[in-house]
Amino acid sequence: MSAVDRYTAHGHPCIAPLDPHAALVSEAQSDPRYVARALEEIAILLDLSGENAFKVRAYERGARLVEDLDDRVFALIESDELTAVEGIGEKLASQIVDLATTGKSQVLDRLRAQHPPGAVELARIPGMTIKRMRALHEALGVTSVGELRQACVEQRVRALKGFGPKTEERLLKAVERAAEPAAPQRVLLRDGLALARRIETALVGGGSASAVVVGGAARRCEETLGELELLVVTRDVERVWQRVLRMPWVSRVEREASRARLSQGIALVLHFATPEQAGLGLLLATGPQPHVERLRARARERGAELETLARENEEAALYRALDLPFVPPELRGSPNDLDPSGYGDLLRVEDIRGFVHCHTVYSDGRATIEEMARAAEALGMLYITITDHSPSAHYARGVALDRVKEQWDEIARVQELVPGVRILRGTESDILADGALDYPDELLERFDVVIASIHARHKQDRAAMTARLTRAMGLPIFKIWGHALGRILLSRDPVDCDVPAVLDALAASRGAIELNADPHRLDLPPEWIRPARERGIPFVVSVDAHSTEGLEVLPLGVQLARRGGLKRHEVLNTLPAAEFMQRVRPH
Ligand SMILES: [Zn+2]
Ligand SMILES: [Zn+2]
Repeated sequence: MSAVDRYTAHGHPCIAPLDPHAALVSEAQSDPRYVARALEEIAILLDLSGENAFKVRAYERGARLVEDLDDRVFALIESDELTAVEGIGEKLASQIVDLATTGKSQVLDRLRAQHPPGAVELARIPGMTIKRMRALHEALGVTSVGELRQACVEQRVRALKGFGPKTEERLLKAVERAAEPAAPQRVLLRDGLALARRIETALVGGGSASAVVVGGAARRCEETLGELELLVVTRDVERVWQRVLRMPWVSRVEREASRARLSQGIALVLHFATPEQAGLGLLLATGPQPHVERLRARARERGAELETLARENEEAALYRALDLPFVPPELRGSPNDLDPSGYGDLLRVEDIRGFVHCHTVYSDGRATIEEMARAAEALGMLYITITDHSPSAHYARGVALDRVKEQWDEIARVQELVPGVRILRGTESDILADGALDYPDELLERFDVVIASIHARHKQDRAAMTARLTRAMGLPIFKIWGHALGRILLSRDPVDCDVPAVLDALAASRGAIELNADPHRLDLPPEWIRPARERGIPFVVSVDAHSTEGLEVLPLGVQLARRGGLKRHEVLNTLPAAEFMQRVRPH
């Protein structure tokens, strides 16, 4: 197998391999927004053609419905049930099917042929109406946003009937705002990877590239991304750009800079390599700069250059040529990233033997205990910890005292039905404002596993929060510190506390820390993993699953662990069931 073959489907541990059949599918099929935007365009062009308002609105509504349905639209197409959705009639349904399966619509093609190419963009300018567009076209020949801007600047628009200086000014502002680069945004790692997959499908499926590989911060598994860097392996760069220009989720292309802006507000950065240079290309696309610089220096020490070493098309061969083992991407850029002792025996997904931190319908989960246990079994796990919320978490329907027994009985029942997976009776107990745990001590000690987490009063000041957490972590029972700093990526900052002090308390009493794989959390933040390891605190990689699909986030948690250099023996849920139970027993 060549390096490029192996890199197809990104070689990224958090993405399932690309389905070979999916390679033939147009990108329309992987993005309902493509269909929605096309329907919206039909509506605008019908309106411009003077079609009746009823028909126009039907397409507008269709666009919104498709957006709301999201990926479910494909299931409805498959089962031929589109027209069962209120607001989707036969005609609209056939357009949706065409767009979703072929990426084309005859209605749209016909309309596009009748109107200037800039018409739709012009219609999307705030304050623009079909009436105004007609007037601008007839009097001034305006058919695009650029022409409108020019006409406004030259103050030709104000002279038209029904416009005036005020309207002209507003239109000019709207045009300029539309041209401004959107404020830089970030997306979750998971969402960036999903985008990468769509782009891969379009480029590899469309035949313009032989492979598309995730590079940059996404390959290094940083928790959020400001840009998505991809290595495109191709001999035809021009063809790739032609394809990128037609991608529905690309809003602007800056070819000279090898960048495009994605509709999600982040930049797409493309690196190119021929198949023979794919290894070097991937190394450079992955970065970060300090790591690449260290490799260059090492090459020079050996009287060579990185570029001349790249005789083989494999990234690992470059490291071999420098007398280094392969440096895992998620460790590149850390100060000792060329020291192999840092990444021997690094945790791998296949080392994990049990799912920790699972919710069920007893609190705010969507699946039953049996469904969760069967899903764990199907995914090859040996055990699962059922840890529903405690009563203080009202919003999450915490399990009241009198229902705990009921849940334990059900666990015993399900255990007989699913003997292959050991089901542990656990709780995710709230850390109350004063640092006490929810549930009386006598009950806490009877659980198989206790996760202790903060779910309220995240904004306590540093002193109060430190006192609260050191007290909770100092309690004598064995507890796992759940989603430690309580951050929600891109929306809620970590709690303010003296983290080393809390880690000291946890190390001195008995406890572990979870690495929460929820893509919105990825908490403990990786910079705190080493300080925790230095104190000898054990870890669990947990899924915090609220559904059976929620179990699939595990690889994200493992990558987070690897970023902190975590080794297999430091992670409790690599142990077999009996040993794991022994290690996490609360009493
Ligand atoms: Zn929680
Ligand atoms: Zn939870």
